[in-house]
Amino acid sequence: MTPSALPVVGRFAPSPSGPLHFGSMVAALGSCLSAHGRGGRWLLRIEDVDTPRTLAGAADGILRTLEGFGFEWDGPVVWQSARTAAYREAFACLQADGQVFGCACTRKEMADSALARDGTRRYPGTCRNGLPPGREARAWRLHVPPGRVVFDDGVQGPIDEDVAADVGDFVLRRADGLFAYQLAVVVDDAEAGVTEVVRGADLLDSTARQILLQRLLGYPMPAYAHLPVASNAAGEKLSKQTLARAVDGADPARVLVDALDFLGQSPPAELAQSGLAAVWGWARAHWTLAAVPRRRSVPVSAYG
Ligand code: GLU
Repeated sequence: MTPSALPVVGRFAPSPSGPLHFGSMVAALGSCLSAHGRGGRWLLRIEDVDTPRTLAGAADGILRTLEGFGFEWDGPVVWQSARTAAYREAFACLQADGQVFGCACTRKEMADSALARDGTRRYPGTCRNGLPPGREARAWRLHVPPGRVVFDDGVQGPIDEDVAADVGDFVLRRADGLFAYQLAVVVDDAEAGVTEVVRGADLLDSTARQILLQRLLGYPMPAYAHLPVASNAAGEKLSKQTLARAVDGADPARVLVDALDFLGQSPPAELAQSGLAAVWGWARAHWTLAAVPRRRSVPVSAYG
């Protein structure tokens, strides 16, 4: 990551849509070791902004699992569901600057438009210059300015994206009134003084959108490092959709050693038998981002 004079602040930001699986454990471990390894702070944020996708009890389960695995976060847990006022304020700033427009398009009306890299529909620009007569705004979108967003990812290397061409004007406030993840994450990271975002490479394609919002809102840009995501034998990211198993709390040392191995840290074979404290001690002493495989996904058979 780019050296910085600022004290390091990292974070882990799970969505409580299911239990913690091996892939999320990898992101938790990588972000924690990166921040704590350089004397920084490591924050925990529960990303429950998307309330319809939030599963009752999942957040508590995630917190208990992290504790059981020996993670120690700094400061209180932040809950996105309690931060609507901050999102509203940022949204109002963008609106006051003329960067936001109302959009009447339904999902069905956009079904023919091209797919962006992350699988969402590229916005064809229908309402960009005003709503069609007789239609009302459902969602609110950012007027995405032309130009490329370029950044140097700490694991994946140089990334270059043309948000206007690849994604188009993306949603800031959804038709159900909720603020979009892209806005929430940028507001939360800025307010918490996050200097580095270490997370799964499934979010690499969201990063340019987030950098764009940081620029428009006058926020500093954190350093980014996108870790490979754990995938099953079919190459699908482990997730609730692929029915990824919750990590087994019965042998946390073994899971952490497997996560270290996944992240290219080459832990000694006998480390898993040495207990949780020894695993953390070894991990803190040996963590190096440079060893993380420069890949977007790596298959794991034991946790699929
Ligand atoms: N909440 C997102 C997830 O669980 C992570 C967002 C982030 O790290 O920026 O996939």
